[in-house]
Order: sequence, then structure tokens, then C-alpha cells
Amino acid sequence: MVIDMSGGKEVLVIGGGASGLMAACAAAEKGASVLLIERNPFCGKKLNITGKGRGNLTNACELDEFLSNVPVNGRFLYRALTDFSPEDAVRFFNSRGVPTKTERGNRVFPVSDRARDLTDCLVRTAKSLGVSIREDTCVRLTVSDGKIIGALLQGDLAYGGVLQQMIARKIDVRKVKKPLFDIDYSDFFHIRDNTYEFYYD
Ligand SMILES: Cc1cc2nc3c(=O)[nH]c(=O)nc-3n(C[C@H](O)[C@H](O)[C@H](O)COP(=O)(O)OP(=O)(O)OC[C@H]3O[C@@H](n4cnc5c(N)ncnc54)[C@H](O)[C@@H]3O)c2cc1C
Repeated sequence: MVIDMSGGKEVLVIGGGASGLMAACAAAEKGASVLLIERNPFCGKKLNITGKGRGNLTNACELDEFLSNVPVNGRFLYRALTDFSPEDAVRFFNSRGVPTKTERGNRVFPVSDRARDLTDCLVRTAKSLGVSIREDTCVRLTVSDGKIIGALLQGDLAYGGVLQQMIARKIDVRKVKKPLFDIDYSDFFHIRDNTYEFYYD
């Protein structure tokens, strides 16, 4: 399947780790239509094992101290950590139902000691902002003028079948009411009188 992003309003996030989920949430919050693809059957596989499965999500210290503990080129992170500080990270999770505690060395963990709660929170937040999450693998990117304008996904068979149905039935995608990435086979059973008005305005 080929995703065309030249329109500018759609954002494709490749990879549902901590950074991909956060990026997807940020883009969706700014009004983009976001598809996140993750090659594993679930997001956050690595995040789930951080801090020996307890989820050491950040360190409760001042920015300078934080940066001085980054082994190589800590200043590179200055802008990112100014925009979204360790305190912001803690606030992000606390305000979304994940209380945290600070332990020896200012290490911050979820009170539950379950890194999985961090992943669940990110996935829940992304979904509540309308992000579509799909299991798929990006195999190639299309670049034009230094910008990524498209991505070739390996494609799961089920969605490939959906696309095939839409092409075979000559469905005008501009009139489809449902977000395109969310259409599944069950939608084709709602078609009435051999027309496709289920999808139309
Ligand atoms: C054992 C261990 C313990 C750790 N402990 C801590 C800790 O206590 N505190 C801490 O802050 N950090 C810890 N880390 C590091 C932390 O887990 C990582 O920094 C963090 O998970 C990185 O997130 P990410 O989103 O950048 O990358 P990842 O978590 O690697 O996410 C990338 C995602 O992209 C997906 N992907 C890749 N290529 C494709 C493709 N072509 N198509 C579709 N999907 C793709 C992958 O499947 C993956 O889910 C630990 C790491 C490990 C391994």
C-alpha cells in the first residue's frame, strides 16, 4: 500500500514506541489526521521493559543537571528539553491517570511500578485524539526536495482487501464519511440497495 502525504494535512508516524506515540499525539492535537504504524502487534514493546519493567520515565532534576548527565553532546537536547522538560513529562502522565513517585537518584516511576501503564496511557491518549493505529511495516520512503512525501507500507492483507473492494466498487473516496484508514470489511455490509450511500454525505 502507498500512502501519499503530499497534501500536507496527513501525518504518518512510523513506529509506535515512546517517541512515535508522543509525536502522533502532538500532531493530532494540532489538528492533523494521523496514522501511526507499528510493525509489532502492539505498541511500546521496548517501553514496557524500561527500568526493569517498572518504567523509569524521567529524572526529577534541573535541566542543566539533566544535560550534564547525557554522555555525548547533551546540548543537542537543549531545545527539546526546554520545550518539553522532565517536569512536563511527569505532568503529562499524572494528568492522564498515571500517578508517579520519585526514588533514589531522582528517578521517576509510575506508582504502580508498571512501565506498561505508560504505554497504555500513550496509546489511550493517541486514540482519544483520533490517531489511527495500525499494524504494518514501512518498507520504503518517498523523498522529494529533501522532504518525505510518501511511504510504502508492506500492507496487511485485511486492509489490502478493503482497498481492493473500494477500487472494484468504484467508491469515490472524496465522499467517504469515515476516516479512510479506519474502514474495515464490516463497513461493506452496511451498503443499502446495492448503492454505497452508507459512505456518502
Ligand atoms: C532493557 C532496557 C531498559 C531500558 N530502561 C530505560 C529506563 O529505565 N529509562 C529510560 O528512559 N529508558 C530506558 N531504556 C531506553 C528506552 O526504552 C528507549 O530509549 C525508548 O523506548 C526509545 O523509544 P523510541 O520510541 O525512540 O524507540 P523504540 O521504543 O525502539 O520504538 C521504535 C518503534 O518503531 C517500530 N518500527 C521500527 N521500524 C519500523 C518500520 N519500518 N515500520 C513500522 N514500525 C517500525 C519498532 O517496532 C518500535 O516499536 C531502556 C531500554 C532497554 C532495551
